[in-house]
Amino acid sequence: MNNDFSLEGKVAVVTGSSTGLGQGMAIGLAEAGADIIGIASRSNQDDTKKEVEKTGRKFYQIQADLSQQDQIVSLVEESISKTGRVDILVNNAGIIRRNQAENFTDEDWDAVIDVNLNAVFRLTREFGNHMIEHGTGKIINIASMLSFQGGLKVPAYAATKHAVAGLTKSFANEWASKGVNVNAIAPPGYMITNNTAAIREDETRYQYITSRIPQGEWGNPPEDLKGPVIFLASSASRYVNGHILCVDGGWMGS
Ligand code: NAP
Repeated sequence: MNNDFSLEGKVAVVTGSSTGLGQGMAIGLAEAGADIIGIASRSNQDDTKKEVEKTGRKFYQIQADLSQQDQIVSLVEESISKTGRVDILVNNAGIIRRNQAENFTDEDWDAVIDVNLNAVFRLTREFGNHMIEHGTGKIINIASMLSFQGGLKVPAYAATKHAVAGLTKSFANEWASKGVNVNAIAPPGYMITNNTAAIREDETRYQYITSRIPQGEWGNPPEDLKGPVIFLASSASRYVNGHILCVDGGWMGS
């Protein structure tokens, strides 16, 4: 393999690493050579730990609730203290709340904004400062097709994912000259995870969405995201900054 894609000797923090896309990306980064610090609010990340350790890399687990904004600075300090250095941050943890726009509650709005946007901003700022000190780093935000489209019954989610795209470009503009690349991956709404269980249960919607994906199939989270995340975490993407990489089977072009 071209060495530009190797993450040998690097440490990656992945939020939301207990399941779904975060778990798949954590394993992919470990396969490329990185040790992983996995953050999730549940106490059991045994599956992720087992799969990461199978690759020969280390897995450090941190249990933290990213809706608690006043704990983010200490969470970043705790993460860095595990390994002394963090080279890669994947801001993956995210939640979705569904309701018609006219009935969408303040509670749902605030919950989604806290995890999907406020935590991403604070984690990026805090880990970014650490990376700037070292003159190098890679930050990968997990955006969405709803960084470009409004979706249905997900006003808070769409607002946060549009904002994540904006944050990505904004931080990239300031940090590109400081050795820190800030990019995003936009999976479609259409990866098979817990996050999309509700739309997959709606047979009519499921068939409609599938028919609109040029590749004709939903994304398979572990395999379809490993390559993109390794690329953006590695020196192969040295000159890529402020980019939102759509991993969508062609959806955005259709
Ligand atoms: P998922 O299966 O529901 O997993 C979400 C992850 O985030 C879990 O590891 C969860 O861990 C963690 N998390 C949620 N709330 C948290 C909190 N308060 N504190 C700490 N960790 C928290 O979701 P997914 O489908 O893999 O989605 C991952 C990311 O991809 C999200 O940002 C999502 O918006 C984005 N995305 C997904 C799709 C898709 O098709 N699935 C499409 C576009 C974008 P705990 O349960 O342990 O807290």
